[in-house]
Amino acid sequence: MNKVDEQLTFRLKKTFKLYIRSALQNALSETPSESDVLQTIINIQAALELIGKFFVLRREGWKGIVKSKFHDKSETELLSLIEKDEIQTTPFWKSKDFFSNEIYLNSDDKDLLDKFQSHRNQVMHLGMSTLPHGILNESIWFMVRIINQLEWQDTLPMQDQYLANSLKSLLGNSLYTSLLANSCYIDESIDRAFELYPDDMKHCIQCANESWALTDELDRVCFVCGYRGDQDTFGFADCPLCDAKGEVVFDALNIGYNEHIRGKCCSCREFVNVSKCKTCDWVSPYPQVCNSCA
Ligand SMILES: [Zn+2]
Ligand SMILES: [Zn+2]
Ligand SMILES: [Zn+2]
Repeated sequence: MNKVDEQLTFRLKKTFKLYIRSALQNALSETPSESDVLQTIINIQAALELIGKFFVLRREGWKGIVKSKFHDKSETELLSLIEKDEIQTTPFWKSKDFFSNEIYLNSDDKDLLDKFQSHRNQVMHLGMSTLPHGILNESIWFMVRIINQLEWQDTLPMQDQYLANSLKSLLGNSLYTSLLANSCYIDESIDRAFELYPDDMKHCIQCANESWALTDELDRVCFVCGYRGDQDTFGFADCPLCDAKGEVVFDALNIGYNEHIRGKCCSCREFVNVSKCKTCDWVSPYPQVCNSCA
């Protein structure tokens, strides 16, 4: 990554996180005031605009989000313009067009996207006389259906991007707990996971919800907590304790080098030792003869 990408990435990441936390804090307020509604609209739209730019930047580099009149400036000039807050970025509709072609959006999602943009414009440019209270619930849908597809995990410190409860890292413990306990977030996320990837769903090893899907990019991604990893990292065996099929997750890259290793059942949450058969490579609970050869 060059220094211009680096500087812009730093800003987008940091500010996205501030906006999304504010948006959800307002949306989850126990006694939502008009101000909470207004702040939810503004903050969630701002969060979207920043994560949308971040999404484009990671694919296209800085030219994807900076106005073309700056494209032939030198790196030093660009860094100085960024430093002085004089760099200009492309309008939101451009990154919206870009990410809309890259992610899954059904007609409800597109309506939701337009709705928040139009509410935000109303609030910012003209004000609103009555604020739409249903918007607080819809902001949770907005998070699930749109923002969760824009790879916000990549805004986190490296150790929280993969094999971690990324959502807890993004929001902090208290806001994370409140989101899961006090909103439609879990139900909406599970519905969304099944809508997109109905065929190979597991309970998440991290948050235990049945929302750990195998995506088209062959990653395992949890639609609730954002836990993700390359599918080759994970192996799945049957559980001898609760009889769940294919829910004991183990380290697929290392099992071959060990007599047995410890796996964890995503269904009953118990630890189970598993081993790989020397004859047929099938993985069974340990100690036990191979399920497949037997
Ligand atoms: Zn999860
Ligand atoms: Zn089990
Ligand atoms: Zn065998």
